[in-house]
Amino acid sequence: MTETNNKKKPELLIPAGSLEVLKCAVDYGADAVYIGGQKFGLRAKADNFTLQDMKEGADYAHAKGAKLYAAVNIFAHNDDIEGVREYFGEIKKAGLYRDIDAFIISDPGILMLSKELLPEVDVHISTQSNNTNYLTYQFWYKLGATRVVAARELSLSEIKKIKEKIPEDMEIEAFIHGAMCISYSGRCLLSSYFTGRDANKGACTHPCRWKYSIVEEKRPGEYLPIEEDDRGTYIFNSKDLCMIEHIPEMMDAGIASFKIEGRMKTALYVAAVTRTYRQAIDDYMENSKLYENHMEYYRREIAACTMRHFTTGFYFGKTDEKSQIYDNNTYIKNYIYIGMVEDITDEGLVCLHQKNKFEVGDDIEIMAFSGENIMAKVEAIYDERLCPMPSAPHPKQQLFVKLDDISDVKNGMVIRLKHCEA
Ligand code: SF4
Repeated sequence: MTETNNKKKPELLIPAGSLEVLKCAVDYGADAVYIGGQKFGLRAKADNFTLQDMKEGADYAHAKGAKLYAAVNIFAHNDDIEGVREYFGEIKKAGLYRDIDAFIISDPGILMLSKELLPEVDVHISTQSNNTNYLTYQFWYKLGATRVVAARELSLSEIKKIKEKIPEDMEIEAFIHGAMCISYSGRCLLSSYFTGRDANKGACTHPCRWKYSIVEEKRPGEYLPIEEDDRGTYIFNSKDLCMIEHIPEMMDAGIASFKIEGRMKTALYVAAVTRTYRQAIDDYMENSKLYENHMEYYRREIAACTMRHFTTGFYFGKTDEKSQIYDNNTYIKNYIYIGMVEDITDEGLVCLHQKNKFEVGDDIEIMAFSGENIMAKVEAIYDERLCPMPSAPHPKQQLFVKLDDISDVKNGMVIRLKHCEA
């Protein structure tokens, strides 16, 4: 007899910085996707969504049973208020309040505006609000929020206690994977100070990951190294959060939605992380033994994404010296993103827009939506006029690719190439 887990299945919530990535997240198993509009969502460098994109994204997600949440999570200054009011007005006029399942909001003033102008849309309170205790959650509930995103700085036992003290119908969302801030999520002036780009408006340049030295104020220009070893010191450089091995504990804490960080990530990253967490959650819901038996697979697949080594963050107590990386600030990159299958021609050629260079003869992987990847050899590459090319060096160029086997290849699948360090 199969053991079945009786707990309520958590939502898998995936970030999308563009329509392409949104579709990819849904295809690879997201239960919900969060996006930023062109105005007032943090993550200024993400492509972000026009109202038309939002409509198309919502239709795509809803058709496959997924939800769409839109971030309006800046901390607004006086000068922003009229703009936010207009933005909500545009959403109303376009009828998008019927398509957006919730706004993600940080600022109490914006919450008030949202409730006044678009009362039909649920409100989730962003992690930017640093929601660290049950009274805060009760406060947001009284103001009409249906969900609060837990501060990354909470332990699982703190989250569990909060869950016990909030109304039954209030949900807790928490990060399960992705980059960590060294400060309280985003409440940090480093980027503003060094580069004039404000983390609280989504424009962080990640200076916490830079290399630092100490200068004594009377000796300008004399850099005193604070070295962990001879490769330098990156004192604020956190490892990335990864809780793939702790899904039971996350569920036990009463977390209703498992959130992946990263609205600026590529489709390759989103496909790999979504597919792996999808399978891990589904396996665990079906049978905890199945989940344990597949652990090696999850670890391997998650390690295939770009990352900075992993930590469990604050979930099992305060972070320590093992939560940071001291000797470099670069990502580990195991695969290169080649493109996404856009179509397969009558002649059997895979149509894509190139993201990174690849060549005839390369062995590529096509990421199946679930299960084993499809391994294929690139037999020929053709440009838009079907002229053959030995390699594909031009980013964004439309290409037609002949593979040795396309039998299981489907539109929307992500194509990757194993990365070999030069
Ligand atoms: S500089 Fe680092 S700690 Fe500060 S907001 Fe940016 S990512 Fe977070």
